[in-house]
Amino acid sequence: CLVGVPRESSDGERRVALVPKIVSALIGKGVDVVVESGAGMGALIPDELYTAAGAKIGDPWTADVVVKVAPPSTDEISRISAGTRLIGFLNPRSADNRIAELEAAGIEGYAMEAIPRISRAQVMDALSSQANVSGYKAVLLAASESTRFFPMLTTAAGTVKPATVLVLGVGVAGLQALATAKRLGGRATGYDVRPEVADQVRSVGAQWLDLGIDAAGEGGYARELTEDERTKQQRALEDAIKGFDVVITTALVPGRPAPRLVTAAAVEGMTPGSVVVDLAGETGGNCELTEPGQTVVKHGVTICSPLNLPASMPEHGSELYAKNISALIELMLLDGGAGEGTGKVAVLAPDFSDEVLAGACVTREERGA
Ligand code: NAD
Repeated sequence: CLVGVPRESSDGERRVALVPKIVSALIGKGVDVVVESGAGMGALIPDELYTAAGAKIGDPWTADVVVKVAPPSTDEISRISAGTRLIGFLNPRSADNRIAELEAAGIEGYAMEAIPRISRAQVMDALSSQANVSGYKAVLLAASESTRFFPMLTTAAGTVKPATVLVLGVGVAGLQALATAKRLGGRATGYDVRPEVADQVRSVGAQWLDLGIDAAGEGGYARELTEDERTKQQRALEDAIKGFDVVITTALVPGRPAPRLVTAAAVEGMTPGSVVVDLAGETGGNCELTEPGQTVVKHGVTICSPLNLPASMPEHGSELYAKNISALIELMLLDGGAGEGTGKVAVLAPDFSDEVLAGACVTREERGA
């Protein structure tokens, strides 16, 4: 089977779906790879490294499987022929996704977001691999926007207290943010509505903030809070947030607008010079004063809402994503692909009795499979 890697076209997207190391691993399984010229440019990977890994440079859109990072544009969809498989972030839960267009074009779409979050599929879990990048980068952003040090410093000119960092929403990004804040020498505290997260928070050396709300939902995700719970949570957080130098928010509820955790009053209560980094900007933001994609200063507090942070670390972002993509491709191959060095050609034969493939495939019905 032939896998095509286009150059990403959406604004600011610097990642690429496959990196040379993963290309050579796939070729070892009997897969052929064609890469669009310049596809790796955003991640600083020249064409020559792809050819050295065994890929051809050419038209990726006519391959059997097209692998992408960002959801395809209408123009990109028009370049893919019926019966082709497309793997990438397809935004299946968003109202303005292009899944209907993929269906109409007869393209079999596999959404990385729809891969079931079970142990066996962890190696394919791109939401997690990219959330790690976001959580890490959010802390660096907070540190660089902050007027204060993160670590405790004892100097001849005096002693500086460590920064206090509160992370609201402790999924994959939140846990990475807590760990990164600790590594920088900050004092980290985590809060979530899923009580099971408390042990994970403590395991990275952070403190757990308990507000007495349990909103654990299906599949390890949170459910949306009731009106009463939301008011109780906002009031409790207004009190808690006052003492923190940095607040990082990552709270999401699948398919819903981001929960509003940080009110305008909470921001007003923070000491001027403090920083809020809101990672939920794409779905409206966790902070009432967030302006998605912007950095604003309100009541002396800097509020950043970066969009698509993983694209700001294209090298490691792509490396991890490429591993997720190749693991999914291997699962679609007959018998996991040809053995290393056997010279056999890999055959694509997705088995939909496998819950991972059945879950990931979002436009299967049209093909009648
Ligand atoms: P997410 O991005 O959907 O949400 C981030 C966090 O926000 C979650 O922890 C959620 O509980 C929290 N949140 C939602 N509403 C909130 C509110 N009102 N107040 C405070 N916090 C709120 O989460 P995620 O990072 O995708 O992780 C979700 C779950 O999936 C976790 O349990 C994680 O351990 C699990 N997971 C499993 C696998 C696997 O087994 N393959 C892989 C990754 C994640």
